[in-house]
Amino acid sequence: MDRFVDEALVLSTVDYGDADRIVTFFTRDHGRLTAFAAGARKSKRRFAGALEAGTWLKASLVSRGAGQETCRVDKVDVVKSFHRLRDDLPLIARALYCLELCRELTRDGQPHVELFEALKDYLALLDERKAGPTSLLKFELDALQYTGFMPRFSPCALCHGPTGPQPRFDAQHGGVVCFACSPRVPHGVFVPPAVVEALAGLQAGARVPLAPELRARARELLNVFIAHHLGRQLKSVAFMEQVGLD
Ligand SMILES: [Zn+2]
Repeated sequence: MDRFVDEALVLSTVDYGDADRIVTFFTRDHGRLTAFAAGARKSKRRFAGALEAGTWLKASLVSRGAGQETCRVDKVDVVKSFHRLRDDLPLIARALYCLELCRELTRDGQPHVELFEALKDYLALLDERKAGPTSLLKFELDALQYTGFMPRFSPCALCHGPTGPQPRFDAQHGGVVCFACSPRVPHGVFVPPAVVEALAGLQAGARVPLAPELRARARELLNVFIAHHLGRQLKSVAFMEQVGLD
């Protein structure tokens, strides 16, 4: 048995039995992990509603030893519940999407401190209602970068030359290829150069809000890219589209 304390964000929860809850945490120093919270739905004293998706807390955890992947939650202290975003559907949808994205891009026991900090900062931004619609694209690009799935928007993923006026996007080749290389990517789809430029700019740290149409095309492209890498569409994408992003 090994007891440790770590900062954690609650990625998701599943109720178990009458009183318990299984929680997937994204911890700062131990990465993603699953923990069993006995009596979480009854014991107000120990958990006091803290084990909800999106809550940032300090968790005392007990690992159950070798071969036992699930930890036990001993105690939690809420650092921030981000309660203000919880009464606005589009903000909830974006938060749930970011949590799901982080859960799916990471693996148990592999720390991603930069991603942890980025997720925490983005939830805070949503909570303060300061996250403009372009900020979600930036978060997705950062999340992909920190987990090693970064798509390339410039230069051409194959010949490393300029992507030119007729770029194609191909998730399998990791990004955008130029017209001359396009015969080598039969599944590549044409992407307007403005979209490629906008994404390359965001990737490089530009903070310019994108026009709605450009944003929609960029989102579509990232959706395809992320679904390709994860082998499926994230569940929260449909919810986010349903309630609207802006
Ligand atoms: Zn090329």
